[in-house]
Amino acid sequence: MTRRRITSSLAYRFVAGERLDDAVRVVSDVNRRGWSASLDHLGENVTEEKAARSATDDYLAAFERIAAAKLNANVSVKLTQLGLDIAPELCQELLTRVLQRAKQLDNFVRIDMEGAPYTQRTLDLVFALHERFPNCGVVLQSYLYRTPEDVLRANKAKVRVRLVKGAYDEPPTVAFPKKADVDANYEAEMRELLLNGVYPAIATHDDRLIEATKRFAREREITTDRFEFQMLYGIRRDLQDRLLREGHRVRIYVPYGTEWYPYLMRRLAERPANLLFIVRSLIRERRAA
Ligand SMILES: Cc1cc2nc3c(=O)[nH]c(=O)nc-3n(C[C@H](O)[C@H](O)[C@H](O)COP(=O)(O)OP(=O)(O)OC[C@H]3O[C@@H](n4cnc5c(N)ncnc54)[C@H](O)[C@@H]3O)c2cc1C
Repeated sequence: MTRRRITSSLAYRFVAGERLDDAVRVVSDVNRRGWSASLDHLGENVTEEKAARSATDDYLAAFERIAAAKLNANVSVKLTQLGLDIAPELCQELLTRVLQRAKQLDNFVRIDMEGAPYTQRTLDLVFALHERFPNCGVVLQSYLYRTPEDVLRANKAKVRVRLVKGAYDEPPTVAFPKKADVDANYEAEMRELLLNGVYPAIATHDDRLIEATKRFAREREITTDRFEFQMLYGIRRDLQDRLLREGHRVRIYVPYGTEWYPYLMRRLAERPANLLFIVRSLIRERRAA
């Protein structure tokens, strides 16, 4: 089930729409309100070369539209959408095309991080290409035991990092099963990135971790132009507003495309508690309005 029309208002809350035009409209609005954006053309785990090439063309088209409309936006890409499951060489070729065009247009590509079986391959490819294309960055997930070392490696290589908790269902052999450990790891990595990273992105809707980030930046006199917060389109808009009013940089991750179903399900059903989060989020926004 991937091509179902977006009809429910719930889907529209998290996904800009099915077409690039929808995404451009949403990003224009996001920019007008003061946030920057990262465009994600939804899709993952493609099994046919044709689909991977078509996804690449979609990303190239997105860069053209960003430039033409003068949007304050970069792009987020998943490597399995560019054929990582088919052949690493194909993926490298397609990612190189995307990075080349981004570089010509002075734009930036964030490589999203997928499930743990892809972590090493994703990092290997990004670190290898980063030497030629410093305009790419990675995502590291604080639920993985390995992430503190990956943060050090990224900082040393001056690769930009987006820090997230992690969205996939990982086994306890590779990831902390307890939320408290994931959060503690996140806080430690946030500090390391703020101190020694290159323009890190602190991507979370967690009030406590956001407060910890602001406090740490203040204590170490790290100015607000040296890092950014990132949040997902449609989640905690009250918090997105507040951070902006406080003078922080905030980037909104804006997904679009017909392959929205797995993304939406990750937000809603991957963790049963997310359904409750949505209700809470709506109530909090309504109270703050
Ligand atoms: C910009 C961005 C990019 C991301 N990229 C990746 C990636 O490349 N790879 C990856 O594995 N993960 C990615 N994620 C997802 C991330 O790993 C988490 O699954 C997600 O952000 C929820 O975790 P949290 O940090 O917000 O903390 P949580 O502890 O899960 O949530 C904290 C609070 O945030 C709010 N909240 C969280 N989720 C929701 C929701 N679905 N609906 C409503 N409210 C919610 C609630 O108020 C909740 O109490 C990304 C997240 C962001 C913000």
